Amino acid sequence: MTEGAVQLDEAGLDGLIQALRRKGRRVIGPKWADDAIVNDEISGVADLPAGWGDELEGGRYRLVRRDDGALFGYTLTAQGWKRVLHPPAVTLFSAAKTADGYALTPAAAEPAPMAFLGVRACEIAAIAAQVQVFETDPGHQARRNAALIIAVECGRAGATCFCASMGTGPAVTGGYDIKLVELEGRRFIAQAGSAAGAEILAELNAPAAAAVSQNPAMGRLMAAETARSLSEFAEHPRWDEVAKRCLACGNCTMVCPTCFCTTVEDQTSLTGDTASRVRRWDSCFSVEFSYIHGGAVRTQGRSRYRQWITHKLSSWHTQFGRSGCTGCGRCIVWCPVGIDITEEVRAIDATREGR
Ligand code: SF4
Ligand code: SF4
Repeated sequence: MTEGAVQLDEAGLDGLIQALRRKGRRVIGPKWADDAIVNDEISGVADLPAGWGDELEGGRYRLVRRDDGALFGYTLTAQGWKRVLHPPAVTLFSAAKTADGYALTPAAAEPAPMAFLGVRACEIAAIAAQVQVFETDPGHQARRNAALIIAVECGRAGATCFCASMGTGPAVTGGYDIKLVELEGRRFIAQAGSAAGAEILAELNAPAAAAVSQNPAMGRLMAAETARSLSEFAEHPRWDEVAKRCLACGNCTMVCPTCFCTTVEDQTSLTGDTASRVRRWDSCFSVEFSYIHGGAVRTQGRSRYRQWITHKLSSWHTQFGRSGCTGCGRCIVWCPVGIDITEEVRAIDATREGR
């Protein structure tokens, strides 16, 4: 379903948002908030971050004004769609005391229909990766199935982007219901990728147009072959070197759109009348995360960084048949000391025999 592109102007894009809202969908898209572009509920085009771009570097995120007024002129939102599909805290069930025992209330009912506006190519790959990880989690599957994907192809890549190395972008080639390409003057080419997307576009009565695609140059490059074989470098001296810089703060795992580790907490009221079990994001950078029967097995920074990057880039292939990295670059941007996943792999790559 890739034929049948139409052209939308700014009013047409607003018409698309309103059509989604009329169908009962909560539209979540990019918004300016606290000097960052974040995903939040939007009610129309006026909520979009018009004229904002971003500068991304290791440990650095700055919004900058653009002179073209583009609506999707930023690279990526600060956090991705993981916050919606795999929320930081999920109540798995709760219990309340009754006269003859406890009444259990299972996890949330069906999520309300949603539409994600502004999904980039690397984010489509991240959503697919987490669907695979949470294959047996009905809550995650229900949230994903409730979301329509309105992708927006990147017109420019950030300095920390390397999706081309990971084969996830920058072109949007699948996994969307509607794909938008922003042209100059807040004009868009919209193309359906599913029956649901085609139905909505047909309602807009927009003029037909030729499909287009964009291919911005990448800011960074991943040494993909070495990345995939990182499991073979468990004793590499680079782990000691990176441990001197790494604060083990876990920021990289929080912003990573594919990181999925969690912990489970049981909470009981002081009276003992109610209790709940909550699943929360956790991180392989916390010492407690590797605690097993009497002690943690990853007590040093070197072993925690090694665990994260080796799992992400290498053992994901064994576990899930794909890399756990989509090349979005968020872990580089939001690392307070600017540790760069591509640079760490390159340092190991440079020491390989025959290089
Ligand atoms: S490891 Fe870094 S670059 Fe790769 S998907 Fe996660 S945040 Fe993005
Ligand atoms: S690599 Fe950076 S973001 Fe990740 S834990 Fe270390 S200091 Fe924090």
